[in-house]
Amino acid sequence: MEIDVITIFPEMFPAVLGSSIMKRAQASGRLRAGVHDLRDYTHDKRRTVDDRPYGGGAGMVMKPEPMFEAVEAIRRACGHAGSRASGDGAGRNCRTILMSPQGETLSPSLAQSLAGLEHLIIICGHYEGVDERVREALVHQTISIGDYVLTGGELPVLVLIDCLARFIPGVLGHALAATEDSFSAGWLEHPQYTRPPVFRTMAIPDVLRSGDHERVARWRKLQSVARTLSSRPDLAKDAQGSRLEAGGQRCCLEPRA
Ligand code: SAM
Repeated sequence: MEIDVITIFPEMFPAVLGSSIMKRAQASGRLRAGVHDLRDYTHDKRRTVDDRPYGGGAGMVMKPEPMFEAVEAIRRACGHAGSRASGDGAGRNCRTILMSPQGETLSPSLAQSLAGLEHLIIICGHYEGVDERVREALVHQTISIGDYVLTGGELPVLVLIDCLARFIPGVLGHALAATEDSFSAGWLEHPQYTRPPVFRTMAIPDVLRSGDHERVARWRKLQSVARTLSSRPDLAKDAQGSRLEAGGQRCCLEPRA
């Protein structure tokens, strides 16, 4: 999969994209992440990317000209031409995304669907945001990482890339890991333990050392449900239906309608 990011702070990316699983994903050729400095698409001496908002008000707005030039140059380099309206490979496999607190909230299903595409061009906003004509003419999808406002799109886009990279086949060592984590089936994940079995008088639950895989699976499921009901009851309402019985304990949940 290929991802091209447009930003005015390219120096924010190497530490995250060059470490850990993201680094391995790129080294193995499963992910190519390119970072483009928006100021390279300006033509004035000061490399201006923002201007005052029409109608007045606080803050600055990102200008449309460099943004159009950047997106169009990346599309040309990748073999897609034109604007959103004139068809740019915008179909299933290439998408231009704007990071914005006003967008669709990032979720595992959204990340998984994006991970199935071939190429993403992702725009990071700053200041008061991006001239609306960019969204209207270039952008296919606007994505938020949550209902709060950050100073720029760089952290949000790194969150998005990390989240979707986990769904690219082969990126995670354990093939099922991404689909077994919290939220995937609607539940929070069960507690995890590793060695030593007793640490400062705190012992791990006996069942985890029983060697009985069925019992372990039941215990995990119950823990997962209990944890979700106590920390995130809002999730439990939508979680996949489940009927659990374990050692006299019983937990019934209605299937999703
Ligand atoms: N004035 C805008 C509004 O009220 O919707 C907020 C602009 S914000 C200060 C600047 C940029 O940061 C946005 O254009 C966007 O790219 C990014 N950003 C901030 N919060 C975000 C979030 N929750 N999700 C995604 N991007 C965000």
